[in-house]
Amino acid sequence: MKSRIRLSLTTLLLAGLVFVGCMHSPVVAPPMASIPPPAAPDFAAANRRVPPPGVVTSIPRPESNPWRPTVAARNWQYIVIHHTATNSGSVESINASHLKNKDKNGNPWRGIGYHFVIGNGDGMSDGAIEPTFRWRTQIQGAHAGSTNKDYNELGIGICLVGNFENSPPTAAQRKSVKQLVKTLRTEYKIATVDVVGHKDIRASATECPGKLFPMAEVAGGDPGVMLGSDSAPPALERVASTTGSLQR
Ligand SMILES: [Zn+2]
Repeated sequence: MKSRIRLSLTTLLLAGLVFVGCMHSPVVAPPMASIPPPAAPDFAAANRRVPPPGVVTSIPRPESNPWRPTVAARNWQYIVIHHTATNSGSVESINASHLKNKDKNGNPWRGIGYHFVIGNGDGMSDGAIEPTFRWRTQIQGAHAGSTNKDYNELGIGICLVGNFENSPPTAAQRKSVKQLVKTLRTEYKIATVDVVGHKDIRASATECPGKLFPMAEVAGGDPGVMLGSDSAPPALERVASTTGSLQR
């Protein structure tokens, strides 16, 4: 009887050990010389995605940027403003037009040359800001026509529908372009002097984006501070082209 109790106790004790062993098998499992112990949890593997100390993984960014691309951003340094020099237009209509263009090597363009288009209510909603495939895929633009190819390669091309030689942008366009430029300037640390009108940088003469485009107001001062059009920084007081070309 005593031995049966002792046996039962032993059984219970063993069962308990097995149970505990199931919960903590690497620790409690009896050592077995012939079988290698189970591998310790691979913390190195679990942490493999964590970069070494000193590598910045989260860059503080303004949360109010609905245009942040989902692919790695290009090293943008400029913003180049254009108008369509037409009364109506949309991403689709400009895309169809630009597909007919060819580069200096005779290769057709890949589509619309700009990164953003802002509508005027005729072809696109008034003030609507539409990113193009060039922005979504973060590829260079085809809009600057400058001797400095950086304006195409590192310049964000924004085109507003309208002819601002004849009439100014709509109130909605004005508000939208200011918001877009301010957001992009903040995100990519672009200086006021690097927000330019097409006519300021094009190799051959153009009026783009037109004499009625409020360039100084849109270019702004320090990111976050919008300057009025009467407080233009000196760098923006450039001499407008004197010819009548509307080339883009
Ligand atoms: Zn232009």
